[in-house]
Amino acid sequence: MRKVYLDHSATTPVRREVAKIVSEYMLDRFGNPSSIHSYGQEAKTALEKARSQVADLINADAAEIIFTSGGTEADNLAIMGVAQANATKGNHIITSAIEHHAVLDTCKELEKEGFEVTFLPVDEDGLVSLEDVKKAIKQETILITIMHANNEVGTIEPIEEIGKLAREHGIIFHTDAVQSLGKVPIDVKEMNIDLLTGSGHKIYGPKGTGFLYVRKGIKLKPRAFGGEQERKRRPGTENLPGIVGLGLAAELAGKEMEEERVNQASLRDKLIKGLRESIPHVRLNGHPHQRIPSNVNVSFAYVEGESLLLSLDACGIAASSGSACTSGTLDPSHVLLAMGLTHEMAHGSVRMTLGKDTTEEDIQYVLDNFPAIVERLRMMSPLYYQRQKESV
Ligand SMILES: *Cc1c(COP(=O)(O)O)cnc(C)c1O
Repeated sequence: MRKVYLDHSATTPVRREVAKIVSEYMLDRFGNPSSIHSYGQEAKTALEKARSQVADLINADAAEIIFTSGGTEADNLAIMGVAQANATKGNHIITSAIEHHAVLDTCKELEKEGFEVTFLPVDEDGLVSLEDVKKAIKQETILITIMHANNEVGTIEPIEEIGKLAREHGIIFHTDAVQSLGKVPIDVKEMNIDLLTGSGHKIYGPKGTGFLYVRKGIKLKPRAFGGEQERKRRPGTENLPGIVGLGLAAELAGKEMEEERVNQASLRDKLIKGLRESIPHVRLNGHPHQRIPSNVNVSFAYVEGESLLLSLDACGIAASSGSACTSGTLDPSHVLLAMGLTHEMAHGSVRMTLGKDTTEEDIQYVLDNFPAIVERLRMMSPLYYQRQKESV
């Protein structure tokens, strides 16, 4: 049976070149970057090269990159770190209702510590409005954290404008760019970004690697203590093999971005068009144009998303419903609900995310199998049955 992996927003395979260099830094170049001897020097050089490779992808300076254990830790460090370093200035934070849980739950944790958080709504395309951000700003606002691209529906938020607004008001601006990194151009200077989160395993790098960009001059209270590494902001012996892998993955993502953007957008459009033509009552979730090239999120009336996923999986097609982190629970996606979908439509949603190895044949295979699956599941739905009877 053909296997088609369409869950690249959950994770990506590690590139062969990356796996190779990771194993090299595990087996042969295993030094500790803090050591004085040649092993240590070699490790230190590799660490700083990776820092530059990551910085180059977002037009930052190498010294502004802190390596972390992934996107989740970077989000935590950014939000907690800024909040606690600026608590004397104010206690108000602005975010959106559709953030990844690494941001949402961190903000909720801060609420328990006495911070006040505004969770901005989004429109039916998943966009945060600038007007809403403007209205939410007050004297006590110290941080705005709004994601670049949404992980469930792919909508790209107007972060350059939000960053400008934050800068004008002297408020620190953080963005979770895990889903946009390596897919669309990011320039932290042009986009007025003070802190930015990235993750390795979403860009064909190793799991358990990531980084936080912190603009020079931004104060950050560390979450861990005990060493001089990462300028004391994230102490502990560095995950050098992972970091070297992340660096290479970042460099290659930058090199291939333009080509991938065109290829994946074309396959994505083919998939959306094909589904719409072959299946009635389909809704595309997320912004029609302002979205990352890899994301397709669709809702099917009268279908249960989990059943759809299982049927797809039985055909060798790997997709997801909502975010990978929330599947396993029966709560409908907080993102789709915030966009105004009914519980039924939110439950009937599937996310398919393309990657650099996705082919035309993969998409054709999905289109060949999808309509029959939906039709079969709908036949089991009493509501759909009723509807068909009425329309005859
Ligand atoms: C995957 C993801 C994260 C978490 O990154 P990890 O490296 O898995 O911890 C954070 N934010 C977004 C938007 C993501 O898609």
